[in-house]
Amino acid sequence: MFSFIKKGLEKTLGSIKDILPERVEKIDKTLLEEILIESDIPYELVEEILYYLPPASSIARADVRRVLKAYFTYPMPERSSEQTPFVELVIGVNGAGKTTTIAKLAHNYKKASQSVLLGAADTFRAAAIEQLKSWAERVDVGIVYTAQGHDPSAVAYDTISSAIAKKIDRVIIDTAGRLHNQVNLANELKKIVRICDKALLGAPHRKILILDGTQGTSAINQAKAFHEMIGIDAIIITKLDGTAKGGSLFGIAKALELPILYVGVGEGKDDLIPFNSDEYVDTILDAIFTPNHG
Ligand code: GDP
Ligand code: MG
Repeated sequence: MFSFIKKGLEKTLGSIKDILPERVEKIDKTLLEEILIESDIPYELVEEILYYLPPASSIARADVRRVLKAYFTYPMPERSSEQTPFVELVIGVNGAGKTTTIAKLAHNYKKASQSVLLGAADTFRAAAIEQLKSWAERVDVGIVYTAQGHDPSAVAYDTISSAIAKKIDRVIIDTAGRLHNQVNLANELKKIVRICDKALLGAPHRKILILDGTQGTSAINQAKAFHEMIGIDAIIITKLDGTAKGGSLFGIAKALELPILYVGVGEGKDDLIPFNSDEYVDTILDAIFTPNHG
């Protein structure tokens, strides 16, 4: 597991090494500032982190750890066993990685012996439906879909109804990331949420926002827009394998006050890692500080 998160942070760790070739016992504050900025932690946040550190000019690992950890204190929405099927609605802009992440989630759930049904409610583009169909085949789960242009809410409704009838454990619904305009998108997503609740009271149980990690802090504005539209419960950050912007997670967690469930570190079905903030912070600190003795 550890090497997995390392893979996701490889480039970020590389950029730390460029600034700090040798690990240190205590870090000079100016150097620490440079490292945090290079990791794409938003500038205001870097200033805030420095403010909460002791006033000394060189800082110990434990002090940095305490401050960095404070950015990930948002509770994880848990799946409760009574909710069957447990319905997840996946949203985010085009290209963020929604469809791929849905396949990875479905694969994970299957590995945990849960049955899964996908709903192809991104009916805006024919290619989107085909893409989810081909993933459903690859990870061997069921899928409900219609022709392009059909009402995505109807797809959501049919998926949930079918899952109830077949006693399926998990439903994951894909959505469009872009329509003719933002108002259309907001209305459509709101309608999907309403119709899910009609199909099964309380559904969707979790609204998951997918954010492209390579976009760094600019993903925060997208996230806020979606949050205002329908309210988000949790986040998944994709493409951390391709970026030195690992530090952007601090900004996203802080701006949205939402838990990060997983991070995506590749295009394959196994490239989804449960996000553990302790592990994440420690991986970054390990690149800066020499190992603790005692
Ligand atoms: P959607 O438009 O939000 O549904 O995005 P897609 O799932 O179609 O993904 C867009 C592109 O990003 C595809 O080429 C994916 O293979 C790629 N992608 C998704 N997640 C990851 C990831 O974690 N790492 C990498 N390197 N690529 C990813
Ligand atoms: Mg898609």
